[in-house]
Amino acid sequence: MGKVSKSSDAKTHFHVRFWGVRGSIPSPGPQTKRYGGNTPCVEMQVGESLLIFDLGTGVRPLGDSLVAKGAPVNASIFLSHYHYDHLQGLPFFTPIFIPHNAFTFYGATRNGQSVKQILSGQMTQPYFPVTAEGVFRAKLSYHDIQAGETVMVGPAKVSTLELNHPGGNLGYRVECEGRSVVYATDIEHGGQDERFFEFARGADLLIYDSMYTEDEYCGRQGPPRTGWGHSTWQAAVRAANESQAKTLVLFHHDPTRDDAAMDRLVRTVQKHRPEAIGAREDMLLQF
Ligand SMILES: [Zn+2]
Ligand SMILES: [Zn+2]
Repeated sequence: MGKVSKSSDAKTHFHVRFWGVRGSIPSPGPQTKRYGGNTPCVEMQVGESLLIFDLGTGVRPLGDSLVAKGAPVNASIFLSHYHYDHLQGLPFFTPIFIPHNAFTFYGATRNGQSVKQILSGQMTQPYFPVTAEGVFRAKLSYHDIQAGETVMVGPAKVSTLELNHPGGNLGYRVECEGRSVVYATDIEHGGQDERFFEFARGADLLIYDSMYTEDEYCGRQGPPRTGWGHSTWQAAVRAANESQAKTLVLFHHDPTRDDAAMDRLVRTVQKHRPEAIGAREDMLLQF
């Protein structure tokens, strides 16, 4: 558990909890148990409003924790994009099978398909045994959003930016009473960096794709990863510096990076940004 700043009674409650921090494919096992093997899912509680970012496999334990509380669940779910690692948890999100719960999905139209079509489309034969329409019982609504749009969810203002990633991807900035969190998973540096730095300007937390090292990215170690849609820890440091973010959170960890390698990567980044944190499952950051 970490504390970014002292919470004040006068301010609306705002916390961020990480349920899935791994990129591309789940990577469970003894070598990854400290950072975790689930794919992206981040919870933000802002006042009474629950916001969920991405539906990677981390949304399954989040769902179980919500059901365990016993109260009706009402949440706004924001999709960055629709690669498997950001969607695969949806059919295993227990609260969506319970009638008194309600969820609103936000995501961009891609390839001419709405967010509803895309989410339903992953639950069809021969990929999946049952359909969303057939089994989900919660009240569901869907909003197609475009980069540049802003959405209010209770006291939280959510703004969006198109990120550099194959097939498109939305970055999100969540603000409440002067505090702000930027969720920028699956971004490849280069091309539109200045726009991103402006978008992330002064964020209290910058959650940033830092999947690769520069050597991996350039192909000095393994195949070149240019054009794969992901960033490096060096680019993460630069993004945090240029945007003057207060705390950098390294995110979307490479599935091959075990806990010891993650510790080394975080220590290296901390030489440049001492406050930097490697995202771990169940990590809670409270404002
Ligand atoms: Zn991803
Ligand atoms: Zn992706």
